[in-house]
Amino acid sequence: MRRRDFLALSLGAIAAIGCVAGRKEDAVKTAKFVAPQPQTDLIESIERAAIEEEQSAQEAMEEGIGSEDSQAVPKDNLEIVKESRELKPIVAQGDELELLTSVFKRLASVQKYIGFGNFNIISFDAMISLARTAKTVGAFTYAELTYLEKLFFRDAKAYGFFGEKVTTKLTEEIAQKEVFKAPNTGHYLYKGKAAQVYESVKKDIGDSIIMTSGVRGIPKQFYLFLAKTLECKGNYSEASHSLAPAGYSYHGIGDFDVGKVGYGEKNFTQDFAQTQEFEKLMQLGYIAIRYPRGNPYGVYFEPWHVEVVT
Ligand SMILES: [Zn+2]
Repeated sequence: MRRRDFLALSLGAIAAIGCVAGRKEDAVKTAKFVAPQPQTDLIESIERAAIEEEQSAQEAMEEGIGSEDSQAVPKDNLEIVKESRELKPIVAQGDELELLTSVFKRLASVQKYIGFGNFNIISFDAMISLARTAKTVGAFTYAELTYLEKLFFRDAKAYGFFGEKVTTKLTEEIAQKEVFKAPNTGHYLYKGKAAQVYESVKKDIGDSIIMTSGVRGIPKQFYLFLAKTLECKGNYSEASHSLAPAGYSYHGIGDFDVGKVGYGEKNFTQDFAQTQEFEKLMQLGYIAIRYPRGNPYGVYFEPWHVEVVT
């Protein structure tokens, strides 16, 4: 499934659960969130880069690598540790579900505006600033920002997600000089260990394996987590079993996902564990999977997610 189709589907799903009508415009648009003044040069260069990004993302999709948007939720949750399953799920309803929907749409329009690759690494502040100046995005409302802040600082254990919070600052920035874009993927990797691991995997397995998701900043993780939450009808707990809440993803600090070229969306399902590529990956001896079967974190088995940060 292409990203645009996914977005259309997501919005369809949102419509199906009755959340699109009458987005509330919040009267208070400023207050304590004072974003930095827009940097015109920066925004122009982002806009130029966006065109290039879209092309490269499009090429990547055409290679059939799939998109992390489609990370599958298995049909039953018996794989999830008991402690996680026994908690009462946290579900967004009413006004909160409406807010979740409007935030998700705005995040999606930021991604469309700056391009898939740029969106992977944009910081929270840069995004807020850009949204104010980009007519097709529009400023985040005070209510939306407050909601994102609340979401970021909520302890994910309440969802039944027991992973570590690896990024504790909402405004954490990914330094451009610390990352690079891996060819034909639309994704970034951290220089150093992540790059070395990926290079070795490519060398040892060959062209049939490719990175399907790399460095992800806070906005990108919000986008994926909220997309998954909408798919789960507002159920944050269920979403957290297949997508880490923002701040809790190791993609923020070095991990990456791999898939089989041409395997498309199945790269983000447990079917990936049946491929020769996965078998070879396991035989290398230097690769560990972040969320193996029966992991204690309340996360489904993710055969595609390579652990880099130890
Ligand atoms: Zn991953």
